[in-house]
Amino acid sequence: MARTVYRRLWCYGAALLLCLAVTAPAGAGAMPLRPGLSGQDTNPWTTVLRDPTGQLTIDQVRAAPYAGRFHPFYKGRAHLGVASGACWLRLEVKNISPASHTWLLQPTHPQFDQVSMFFFPASGQAASFHLGDHLPFAQRPIPHQTSLFPLKLGPGQSAVVYVRLAYVDAGIADVRLRIWSPKPFSHAQAAHVAAMGLMIGGYLMIALFNLFIAFSTRAQEYVWYVLYVLAVAITSLAYQGLGYRFLWHGWGWFTDNAPVVFPILGLALAAQFTRSFLKLKQTMPRMDKVLKGYIVFTLVLMAGLFLGFRREAIIISICISSIGLVFPLLGLNLWLKGRREARYYTVAWTFWMVATTLVILRYFGLIRQDFFTGIMPSVFMLVEALLLSLALTDRIKLLREQKERAEKSYLNALRQDKLELERQVRERTAEIECMHRQAVRASRTDMLTGLPNRRAFYEEAGRELGRAARYRRMVSLIMLDIDLFKSINDTHGHAAGDEVLRHLAGILSLEKRSHDLMGRLGGEEFGLVLPEATPDEAVALAERIRQVVATSPATYNGVDIDYSASFGVTRQMPGDSIETILNRADEALYLAKAAGRNRVEVA
Ligand code: GH3
Ligand code: MG
Ligand code: MG
Repeated sequence: MARTVYRRLWCYGAALLLCLAVTAPAGAGAMPLRPGLSGQDTNPWTTVLRDPTGQLTIDQVRAAPYAGRFHPFYKGRAHLGVASGACWLRLEVKNISPASHTWLLQPTHPQFDQVSMFFFPASGQAASFHLGDHLPFAQRPIPHQTSLFPLKLGPGQSAVVYVRLAYVDAGIADVRLRIWSPKPFSHAQAAHVAAMGLMIGGYLMIALFNLFIAFSTRAQEYVWYVLYVLAVAITSLAYQGLGYRFLWHGWGWFTDNAPVVFPILGLALAAQFTRSFLKLKQTMPRMDKVLKGYIVFTLVLMAGLFLGFRREAIIISICISSIGLVFPLLGLNLWLKGRREARYYTVAWTFWMVATTLVILRYFGLIRQDFFTGIMPSVFMLVEALLLSLALTDRIKLLREQKERAEKSYLNALRQDKLELERQVRERTAEIECMHRQAVRASRTDMLTGLPNRRAFYEEAGRELGRAARYRRMVSLIMLDIDLFKSINDTHGHAAGDEVLRHLAGILSLEKRSHDLMGRLGGEEFGLVLPEATPDEAVALAERIRQVVATSPATYNGVDIDYSASFGVTRQMPGDSIETILNRADEALYLAKAAGRNRVEVA
């Protein structure tokens, strides 16, 4: 069963090849040349012969059996992948214009080590030219970064051209040939070189700008980024042959290796930059390990390159360049997780992907090679570099915003603390004030009866007497003393005596007028100041109090204790102080005691 499937596949394959051989116009006649050609592709008229050992000579390839082994390009694509040794191209051209004219034949890929052209006109002198980046630049017939050969043909003249493209070791074998008339060529080249100059200038500015930021911020991702941009710039110069022409001609070793080493180095640096910019160690530890492994692998690959595995190293490096596809996905993943700095990063690597895809498509002949497709990958790479620089700058902004937020919340916390502290201080102050008021009140109040004590009574009474004297108002004073209090103590006990004192204080509070002042002067002695009261009114009040005291006993432990009090009454006289007026009242009180107690006497 499987065998029949295989046989059928073989048949289809053979039929396809036959069709290609029949339909391909390759090798069919001479390529017609007229003035004004602008980079005309020679593919349809070119046949190719591989020479992996690189040993064949021009005489050998022109004669049997090699002359019969030239064949057209597979599907017209002038790309042989990664090849070692030499590759021969055969092309017949014919000047179809009525005048003689010189065209330029251009093998477009500038990296071949040896590039030779053998020119056999139908009539006249054969010629040969030997170029390639292993020979001094000055030796070129036309100074240009790619190899250029003059094709001089008289009117109607035809010629056979052989081109030999070879690597000493191995390299990318893009074997496309193009034919130009000098004028369109110099126009196209001026545009190309100007565009490349702008591009390289752009890379250098970006690198310099980020180098300054690296110096001032000491953040390592900027250093990796600068190195990455430089690697991309050198890769670009190496691919276009401009590096060899303007910067490093004479360094054959560098010329050979730059187009392979710098793309690999660039990818390794991009991976390192990604690790440090996206902080993969914290955000995606497994991916971080993968990239670390990748970087180590690229170093091994470069070692392999120099240890003689050039062809293998180039093929592997092209394969692993697909790591670049991972970068935008990584960025997108973090972007979706809300990491703002991943935005520019993702867009930048998407541009990188497009650029790389364009390069690969162009190399394998899947898209046309013209000014636009030639310059676009470089433009996209530049846009990528710009976007990454934007990503780095944006990060400074993000960090600043973070700092401002932190400062603001710190200030808020401080303000909150201050408010809390103020509240506590206010509370504490209120407590202390309250305690102070209580202490003051306690210091002016008699503990037993709750009446103002002697000191408070002296102060308040003094103030009232002063005011009455100032305004010439009447004020009277009553002083009273419990009769035979000592015997109450002796009979009923000290606690009962205390109860009697409280009882009397209650009576005084009830009987006095609202604006009268009273106080306990000490022991069982009390005073009353009566503003606006005449001595008669004072005597009347004293008498009323005396009667209430004498008729309402105090009660202690269910026992009624009868008691009485004696009263001395006086009024304020001019020049009286609190002491003099009290002395007079005390004299009246003494009279009341002497007269038998439980009575009122006036001074
Ligand atoms: P007189 O009628 O002459 O005023 O006689 P008296 O016994 O009341 O006077 P005296 O001054 O000889 O006695 C006063 C007594 O009051 C002496 C003291 O023990 C008592 N005493 C003073 N302060 C208090 C007190 O706060 N509570 C009690 N229970 N007794 C007190
Ligand atoms: Mg007494
Ligand atoms: Mg007394």
